This record gives sequence, C-alpha cells and structure tokens, in this order.
Amino acid sequence: MVNSTVAVSKTKLKTPPLSVEVLGSKVLRQGAKRVTQINQELRELVAQMLKTMYAKDGIGLAAPQVGILKQLLVLDIDPDNPATPPLVLINPVLEAQSEAWALQDEGCLSIPGVFLPVKRPVQVTVSFKDEFGKLHRREFSDLTARVILHEMDHLQGVMFVDRVENPLALAQELSKHRFSLADVRRVTSS
Ligand SMILES: [Zn+2]
Repeated sequence: MVNSTVAVSKTKLKTPPLSVEVLGSKVLRQGAKRVTQINQELRELVAQMLKTMYAKDGIGLAAPQVGILKQLLVLDIDPDNPATPPLVLINPVLEAQSEAWALQDEGCLSIPGVFLPVKRPVQVTVSFKDEFGKLHRREFSDLTARVILHEMDHLQGVMFVDRVENPLALAQELSKHRFSLADVRRVTSS
C-alpha cells in the first residue's frame, strides 16, 4: 500500500494555485532532475500540484508542467471519490512492462482540448519514493499504468503527441485547437 497522506481536499478550486505550461513552452522539453531532498517544502509542492490537478479536472500532473524540473508526479484516476488517496511518485523508475500494449485516447493539461490515441503497455512495474521518502516497488495496470507512463514521459521532456502514430489525425487535432505541429517531436513506441 502506498501511504499517501499529503492531505488535500479534492474540491475543485476556481483558481489553481500553480499555472500549467502549454505545448510550445521550453520547460516541457527539458529533462527533470532527480529529487534529492524529500522534505516539507517538497510536500508543499505536492499539495499545490494536487490542488492544481483537481482544479483543472486532470488525473495526472508532472512537475515540469508547472515549470519545475524535478522528477515528481502526482495522479488520481478517481478524482470524484474523496476516499481514494492520490498517488505521489518521486524519482520513478520503470522496472518492467507487459508485452501487451493497448491503444487508447489520451489528453494532457499542457495541450488542452487535444485527445488522441496512444499505444502504451497495459501493465508496468515501477519503483519510486513517496512524499515521505519511503521506497516502493509496485505493479500498475490499465489506466493507472497509462497515466504513470504519460507522466514519466514528461520527466524526460516527452509529450503524448510525440507518440501519436496517425500523422493526419495529429495534424488535424492540433490545428483545431491552435497548437503547432512544429512543437511535436515524434518518437516511436519502444
Ligand atoms: Zn501530460
């Protein structure tokens, strides 16, 4: 069990405490550094990130999206249920992934309005520290695995649109939402 106890109300704030960078911003394309000190200051950042994620109806948020190049991400695939604690992953490392992959629509708070299918492994094993510095090694599947992989990509400057395999759908969806195809850096699924 992940002992995630940074106490944050899931109530949606009208004004998110942190502003979210959008596609085109340089900070989204930089690699994040490992967190070396897990302290109260970091837990405060975790709380602010969670509040921002809930305010914007997101289910995951990585620190580079709020302009902070640290290997830190938060997620909650059940944001309407106050009883489900969010997950906080610090310095996450992908230890294993399933051979089975699935294609499913993704969105991103940094590319508002854009939803496109992305192939991801169905199951992953990830090691990480929680916000109290405790080390975990856990298996995640389906939507949770997908969100973790999406957020871990952010820590390396990769955006989900880089993994979209249909170039026509990508171009159409980006232009519909006034994003530039020039800000996409295609990567192949690996
Ligand atoms: Zn994202």
